[in-house]
Amino acid sequence: MPGFELFGPEERKEVNDVLETGIYMRYGFDGPRKGIWKSKELEAAICKTLGVKYAQLTSSGTSALTTALAILGIGAGDEVIMPTFTFVASFEAILGVGAVPVLVDVDETLTLDPAAVRRAITPRTKCVMPVHMCGSMADLDPLMDICAAHQLVLLEDACQSFGARYKGKYLGSIGQVGTFSFDFVKTVTCAEGGAVTTNSEDLYIKADGYTDHGHDHKGVDRGADLHPFLGFNYRISELHAAVGLAQIRKLDKFLSIQKKNHQQLKAILSTVPEISFRKIPDPAGDSCTFLSWFLPTEAITRSLVAELKEQGIIAGNFYWFDNNWHYYRKWTHLHQAASLSRLSEVQHSALTKLSPDAFPASDRVMGRCISTAIGLAWTDDQIKEKGEKIVGAVKKVLSREKATV
Ligand SMILES: *Cc1c(COP(=O)(O)O)cnc(C)c1O
Repeated sequence: MPGFELFGPEERKEVNDVLETGIYMRYGFDGPRKGIWKSKELEAAICKTLGVKYAQLTSSGTSALTTALAILGIGAGDEVIMPTFTFVASFEAILGVGAVPVLVDVDETLTLDPAAVRRAITPRTKCVMPVHMCGSMADLDPLMDICAAHQLVLLEDACQSFGARYKGKYLGSIGQVGTFSFDFVKTVTCAEGGAVTTNSEDLYIKADGYTDHGHDHKGVDRGADLHPFLGFNYRISELHAAVGLAQIRKLDKFLSIQKKNHQQLKAILSTVPEISFRKIPDPAGDSCTFLSWFLPTEAITRSLVAELKEQGIIAGNFYWFDNNWHYYRKWTHLHQAASLSRLSEVQHSALTKLSPDAFPASDRVMGRCISTAIGLAWTDDQIKEKGEKIVGAVKKVLSREKATV
């Protein structure tokens, strides 16, 4: 799944280019940098890969999300619709700009349920933020229809799905703004990094300034730059961008390996009739970083997780339902509004209304779901062995289940 599995001389070469000039910052130092502009090169490569007009690199996926919300003008008291299954960065970024996260159920796509989104809209809703989890896509057509009908912004969190597509278009190029993470466990890594993508020149100019304290980047003297609006430091470094540049050149290779390994593993799990698979709105566009699958009940799934642990083969099989970081049930710090600094009244009251059992429809999906991370370095024999071990464990759990009924 992550690019760090295939790390090599290509990454080292790009980083060495930067080490040799000693210019680690992406802006300025035009003479001493001797023509080395890794961040600019990576931004151009992202645009070319995804077919978008503009890409702005950031220090992380979280800062990319924060930047995306800010440039879209989302702020104090605005409501942003986000899924119950995502990474904590989604609500961190929303709270960070002063807005209110409105949690909404996921369905068997493991992403926003469009019907639940419709029900969550209020006069304060400004933005719908689908999160393309685990390498695959949200049901974008109905979500785009909802946004058009209610004049809402569609912000795609494609942090986990670089290189995945929906009906021929790359994820992150479909909404007004897209965001990506290049942290250490993502498909393409910079070690740490992220990107905001858009086809709007106005939004791009805002992202360019916002991520660098509001600098307008119009002159050659940073001290003389104007600051038309407030910003932050969400810059990436040249060293990080250099790593990403070597990685993005391997994207096609990563994707083709993932697709092959995914297909082989899926074929093995498909031999068990009780196993069903994640609903994928456009199967051809799946980046195949994970194979996500369901068992008939939460109880059976829990037994399987215990069995995989007992056999020492749980690694790489994620039961998000019990995960502290990816599913709302365990976001106790959010439910308790455990902020180090005072939140606004509207944020505080929205958070304290949340409770761990508020989303039974999501629980019914996530309680039965396992995502198996697809390795880039697996051999065919290893896939067969992994698949057969999982199938063996599932059959054991199912027969035990039948014996007790
Ligand atoms: C990784 C991730 C982020 C945040 O990215 P960082 O680079 O780790 O800050 C945001 N959203 C999702 C869905 C992610 O998986």
